[in-house]
Amino acid sequence: MVERRTPLAVEKAIEKVMDCKLEGKKEYVSIFESCDRFLAEDIKADHDIPRFDRSAYDGYALRSKDSAGCSEDNPLQLEVIDEIGAGYVSGKSVGKNETVRIMTGAMLPKDCDTVVMLEDVVESSDDKSYITVTKQVHKGENLSFKGEDVKEGAFLVKKGTKINPGIVALLATFGYEQVPVAKKPRIGVFATGSELLEVDEGLEEGKIRNSNAYMVMAQIKQAGAEAVYFGKLADMLEESYEAMKASLADIDILITTGGVSVGDFDLLPYIYEKLGAEVLFNKIAMRPGSVTTIASLDGKLLFGLSGNPSACFVGFELFARPIIRTMLFSDEPHLKTSSAILTADFPTANAFTRFIRSRTVLEEGILFAGPSGTDKSSIVSSLINANALTVLPGGKNGYKAGERVQVILLEGNFN
Ligand code: AMP
Ligand code: MG
Repeated sequence: MVERRTPLAVEKAIEKVMDCKLEGKKEYVSIFESCDRFLAEDIKADHDIPRFDRSAYDGYALRSKDSAGCSEDNPLQLEVIDEIGAGYVSGKSVGKNETVRIMTGAMLPKDCDTVVMLEDVVESSDDKSYITVTKQVHKGENLSFKGEDVKEGAFLVKKGTKINPGIVALLATFGYEQVPVAKKPRIGVFATGSELLEVDEGLEEGKIRNSNAYMVMAQIKQAGAEAVYFGKLADMLEESYEAMKASLADIDILITTGGVSVGDFDLLPYIYEKLGAEVLFNKIAMRPGSVTTIASLDGKLLFGLSGNPSACFVGFELFARPIIRTMLFSDEPHLKTSSAILTADFPTANAFTRFIRSRTVLEEGILFAGPSGTDKSSIVSSLINANALTVLPGGKNGYKAGERVQVILLEGNFN
């Protein structure tokens, strides 16, 4: 007799997984390796940026009061008493009607309070060098001030943030040669199914290439974790059980694809039982991927994703990705959502919530969403152009083009 399973609402299922609270760990990596990793600590400023008032242009530093009243008719001549490039400091004291030639980034001499740009002066010389200024230069002009970029003590980047090139610049500014980042969780992957051929095997009658494992490994990497591939398993109970048991030693999460339904060769329910794992749920009120099964064992999570490629993809994004992100210290682990206008009809009502692989386009500020291919869970090609999942909540009615719906935005698929 076919086992009857009680479907759980998607939100409840996500909640159950997130309640498992897998701990993240910290490690240090060289700043060279830090981009795209997730910060394991808040970053605060331990000094001002800039640390000193400096010239924002190539020009001449002076005392603004010397230029008071200066104009075309009343030009001011200043004697150039020193020259400094960026990185150098003038040791001279600058007196009345004196100036220091200064390059962008150089520290403002202590007696000066402003800079006039090179293009605004006329240079001359006899045995000394001079400049002539023909308009008043106000205090603070053409400077970049101590602390104007970042003040000492300022909160800069939150723990759990994905490091981008701008954050790398900041880390370098504050001397982080070694950067505290979340250790990448290790996620084991098995593809199950006697029909599967590996990517490098020739095609055979009745067999298909294993695409799920490679897709899931790419999703794992995109989520910020490390994928550990254990290969494919034929639908054989003992062998599969032994292989899965052995794999658990060195990983945080195990993902399998296939074998979670109620068919003759769907062995995952028996394997979970034999492993002594606690099944959190084995039926979700969603399409595709209603058979997605998640179990926990000794503080690890076992994700039994559907073998159907689209279902497998959606199952990973909804359930595995957020828990991986919490292990990377993110406090916003879920994919972002937006409202959008549906561009296609979905006339058939479905009791389960549907996640339609979709392409969104922004036209004059309005986001439109339509299917990115055939909407069947076995379809792989609808994933090529998908940049979102359109959420159609279950109920008695279908949906019509023009209706406002929620879309889940897939990461990194917008350019
Ligand atoms: P299952 O969940 O094992 O019943 O598999 C459902 C469907 O997905 C079947 O048509 C399988 O052949 C197919 N399938 C299972 N595993 C994979 C895989 N790794 N790559 C591509 N298709 C798969
Ligand atoms: Mg199978």
